Amino acid sequence: MKRILVVFIVALTCVGAMWLVSGAQVQAEQTAAVEVAEADVTAPKYVFLFIGDGMGFPQKTAAEMVAGERLVIDQFPAQGVTTTYAADRFITGSAASATAMASGQKTNIGMLGQTPDGQHVVSIAEMARDMGMKVGIISSVSIDHATPAAFYAHVPKRGQYYDIDVALAQSNFDFFGGGGIKDPTNKRENATEFVGDVNDLLAENGYSVIDNRDDFMALTPESGKVVCWNNWLQDSGAMPYHMDVREGEDITIAEFTAKAIEMLDNENGFFIMVEGGKIDWACHANDGTAAIEDTLAFDAAVQHAVDFYNAHPDETLIVVSGDHECGGLTLGFAGTKYASNFELLGAQTVSFQYFTAEILADFKEQHADGATFEDIKPLITEYFGLKFEGAEDDLLVLRDSEIAQLEEAFELSMSGETIDTQDYQTYVVYSDSYDPLALTLTHVLNQKAGLGWTSYKHTGVPVGTSAIGIGHELFNGYYDNTDVALKIMDIMGIDPQVHMADTTVGEEVAAQ
Ligand SMILES: [Zn+2]
Repeated sequence: MKRILVVFIVALTCVGAMWLVSGAQVQAEQTAAVEVAEADVTAPKYVFLFIGDGMGFPQKTAAEMVAGERLVIDQFPAQGVTTTYAADRFITGSAASATAMASGQKTNIGMLGQTPDGQHVVSIAEMARDMGMKVGIISSVSIDHATPAAFYAHVPKRGQYYDIDVALAQSNFDFFGGGGIKDPTNKRENATEFVGDVNDLLAENGYSVIDNRDDFMALTPESGKVVCWNNWLQDSGAMPYHMDVREGEDITIAEFTAKAIEMLDNENGFFIMVEGGKIDWACHANDGTAAIEDTLAFDAAVQHAVDFYNAHPDETLIVVSGDHECGGLTLGFAGTKYASNFELLGAQTVSFQYFTAEILADFKEQHADGATFEDIKPLITEYFGLKFEGAEDDLLVLRDSEIAQLEEAFELSMSGETIDTQDYQTYVVYSDSYDPLALTLTHVLNQKAGLGWTSYKHTGVPVGTSAIGIGHELFNGYYDNTDVALKIMDIMGIDPQVHMADTTVGEEVAAQ
């Protein structure tokens, strides 16, 4: 597949966000600088796209500080800055962002694989499949969640899980791995058309479903098409947070990546997308330790691709990006001034989710007749390292004001009352989604470490995109998330533009 690669053949014009300024809608149009460079390149046989969901620069830098060494991702020779906005909102969501990175199409919040007016666009995974490459899709959350779904589904609403599951079963992709599927039997009753139990569809379409580590480890390239999920799906069909992983029982995202590489390596090459989905979930919950551990687990998955690249340097492209930042994480906090105490985060031994669903749930069961704050103190110290007394210079010792915060959150958590999210101040302090005590514990510990959170949602800051391998130079600079897909297409020998579903990319490429 030898061809002349024309870098940025013409000015890439992308229609910018719809700004609402004083009620007037102003359409900002961005035109990238014309940059023409010709390089004689061979399209890569092996293409990896890693997406750290919710992974902005602070998430990566915090992980680097905890690891004590630069992330694999940040050692790549090409480093870019990527804008993320959706077609209809400055702060994007995973569906719109993944659609942009999968197909080059800006779309509205919640839409998957479609233009804002509902036309289907072809993803680079579908293009790779049509070109005869094998395709693998991996996510640490459910494999029908927005980010992975943007590579094989075309629905107006990301919550159409049954339709997405049907699309997964009909994708003819070779490998799905990570979390489960959310609605194989249309329990949500929002199917466009019910065509049967998706478990049956998977079998009819030649997929083996693997749900445990032993069978997973035994898979070989001869095993055929597989859908594999971790045996323990911790929350909403997702793999456990990396810090909660049970060694020898759970499959890590790095192991899913290594297995996909092993199974999909073939003479026609492969396209593998790996999503670190729980980075985002940890950030929604403002749990810095869980976010960092999942970022490091994601980076370990990238290392497997790099090992493969080192063995096939002239045939491989690896691109790593984030779909948006989440939580408004920043690496500094008013209370700690110029100090950063990342080491304190290591005192937390379970995720907010594990604490809420296992530790706190058990505690509440054992104290059904009522509990005092004194009763919970040992658990706070055991799982978050926060101490109620100790040496003056021990940073984990709680101040009176912090104890008061925890006590209020404890009372609220034990009362079982639903939080009034209509009340502005209550929402800002406790969110509308998390246990008040678990949330306050991570807030207090994170602030002591010098981490600040500004939101329970995504933010609009640009993210980093890194690349190594064939054509990686294209990923230097400042560009939009739609360009991530267009650049990958360009390098793969595909006309770098949005492809509508009625075009056959395979034929187009074959004709070149
Ligand atoms: Zn999110």
